[in-house]
Amino acid sequence: MKRIALLGATGSIGIQTLDVLRLHKEEFSLYSMAFGRNIEKAVPLIKEFEPKIVVVQDEETKQKLVRQIEIPSILVGSGGLIEASVADAVDVVVNAVMGSVGLPATLKAIEAKKKIAIANKETLVTAGHLVMDAAKTHGVDLLPVDSEHSAIYQALHGEQMKDVHKLIITASGGSFRDKTREQLEGVTVEDALNHPNWSMGAKITIDSASMMNKGLEVIEAHWLFDVPYDKIHVILHRESVIHSMVEYVDRSVIAQLGTPDMKVPIQYALTYPNRLDLPMTKQLDLEEIASLNFEKMDFERFPCLRMAYEAGKAGGSMTTVLNAANEEAVQLFLEGKISFLDIERLIENELSKHDKIHSSDLSAILSIDKTTRERVRSHLN
Ligand code: NDP
Ligand code: MG
Repeated sequence: MKRIALLGATGSIGIQTLDVLRLHKEEFSLYSMAFGRNIEKAVPLIKEFEPKIVVVQDEETKQKLVRQIEIPSILVGSGGLIEASVADAVDVVVNAVMGSVGLPATLKAIEAKKKIAIANKETLVTAGHLVMDAAKTHGVDLLPVDSEHSAIYQALHGEQMKDVHKLIITASGGSFRDKTREQLEGVTVEDALNHPNWSMGAKITIDSASMMNKGLEVIEAHWLFDVPYDKIHVILHRESVIHSMVEYVDRSVIAQLGTPDMKVPIQYALTYPNRLDLPMTKQLDLEEIASLNFEKMDFERFPCLRMAYEAGKAGGSMTTVLNAANEEAVQLFLEGKISFLDIERLIENELSKHDKIHSSDLSAILSIDKTTRERVRSHLN
């Protein structure tokens, strides 16, 4: 029986992680869970899974929650996320919160030698060097939940990294893949939230439309697999059937395929190196799909992808700025305060003004994250 700490339990990945736990009650139990403020979603989950520790974002949410339900321990904020992750009883931490708020808990969980199933890509983008150094030092496995990285992880299974020629990450193209730059000027939040292949949280759906999601995934792949940026290739593949590929030096390419369902990579991260049945997920029917399409990525059409490569190659604190500026700009777009194309403009502006710090520690990262967000917000006035 593996005991799970689930950070971001009420989110898209969190809910699907609980679907997996529900399916395999003899294999997994929920020891602790964290969410932000969404009490309506959380209460039925707490009743069903009876976690020993529940973490919420702030004191006000805690007060509301204690009035509704009895829980052995309710904790608050970043300290709570850490406690829920490092508790002795926890075997695996599933980090599925949205944003760089997941970074300190990930680092502490690694120090406590917990297995980490990581969906929270912003943590790797903002401070990949700290996370990977800690994982190496403490001999901890980071199991990717992101479907592309799970695919690459599976394609690398039993292989040697010296034989890898390149990683090929597939991109569905998001909600605006068929729109021109001119057509992007007037798009609304509602348009952007309408993803053709995947149902996900709001922030990552906007990131998919701007192609920043793919940029974040390139940086995520760089850190997870220790592969240089010039060996990470992105290709447009609108069907989302091939989740990503690895090309080896002998020209052999290994891909992982399946219907687009996040429960597959979530479960694989929890069962690795074993596999379990996943009965409610649709089987891949290639005869029904009939054909698969691939297109070259256009870096002018998708400047966020270009900026992510540039920030990744520049290294140091550039990806911290990229991530923080993006998180804040996407939030402003979701609040209706800026246009869709303002997102990329605000990010480009922050990147161009930033004085790179070569090797930043956690406190420097948190400080750059905070000041970048404040600067992005200050452009509104
Ligand atoms: P959602 O927005 O759906 O969920 C985010 C979760 O984090 C919610 O449970 C939210 O709680 C919680 N949360 C937010 N802020 C805090 C905080 N300060 N303290 C505690 N909990 C917090 O996001 P997704 O599930 O879509 O994405 C989660 C992560 O997984 C992201 O990094 C994303 O990039 C990655 N990912 C997601 C995929 C997907 O299919 N959704 C695919 C691949 C990667 P509340 O509900 O109360 O706000
Ligand atoms: Mg992905």
